[in-house]
Amino acid sequence: MIKIGNHVTSSKGYAAMGKIALELGGDTFAFFTRNPRGGKAKEISTADAEKLCVLLEQNSFGKLVAHAPYTMNVCAAREDVRQFSWEMIAEDLVRMEHTPGNYYNFHPGCHVGQGTEIGIQLIADALNAAIRPQQSTIVLLETMAGKGSEIGGRFEELRAIIDRVSCQDKVGVCLDTCHVWDGGYDLVNHPDEVLEEFDRIIGLDRLHAIHFNDSMNECGSHKDRHQKLGEGKIGLEGMKRIALHPLLQGKPFILETPNDDEGYAREIALVRSWF
Ligand code: ZN
Ligand code: FE
Ligand code: FE
Repeated sequence: MIKIGNHVTSSKGYAAMGKIALELGGDTFAFFTRNPRGGKAKEISTADAEKLCVLLEQNSFGKLVAHAPYTMNVCAAREDVRQFSWEMIAEDLVRMEHTPGNYYNFHPGCHVGQGTEIGIQLIADALNAAIRPQQSTIVLLETMAGKGSEIGGRFEELRAIIDRVSCQDKVGVCLDTCHVWDGGYDLVNHPDEVLEEFDRIIGLDRLHAIHFNDSMNECGSHKDRHQKLGEGKIGLEGMKRIALHPLLQGKPFILETPNDDEGYAREIALVRSWF
């Protein structure tokens, strides 16, 4: 039915992350490709990654949705930050091949005063430098809340990036319900219209994963503050409508709600009970 999980971390490595996800009731999960605040990535053990792949297979997991570090900004104005981010995304995509056939999600970036057009071009340039035609990983651009100089708050911006990527079959989109709502798309009262707009501008065939979060703020607030399911402005009925929407079936749903493990287990069970 639904593939759902949360962000999992473990200092013990990849197979350990899979075990945690299982214990919480998940059949997909998200993980940071390195420390979320950035920095040098820990070496991946091939044996450990293979162990995880076996666990995923045995337990019929959906595709995983890895997440790039928050500090990565491939369209940064500062040359050194941008350089560092370009190296990071390229290196991460090589690392992702330890767990083949999954998703790598990233925040498109903040143009920090350079303007949307330059930002979009730099993001596309970074992707063209990092993506290799033979890779098995699909890179996902995340829909953003449009906070500050964030790019990706409008579907048109994501479309403009995708249009400039050479390896068209290696890019897609991850829809974050909190971000889209904060960005001004009313997924609660007009889910059909929002998804129709997504389809018209980006194409639903590009939509591969969902970040499933309630929001602390009103639709159009451009804030990006996640909330537990049912405790935010989207509300339980709204979240349920989204989860059950026919056009979203079969995609991995990732919880990024402010919870401890017990809270995640509860939310995973709750969402499953809707099906
Ligand atoms: Zn994100
Ligand atoms: Fe997200
Ligand atoms: Fe967010």
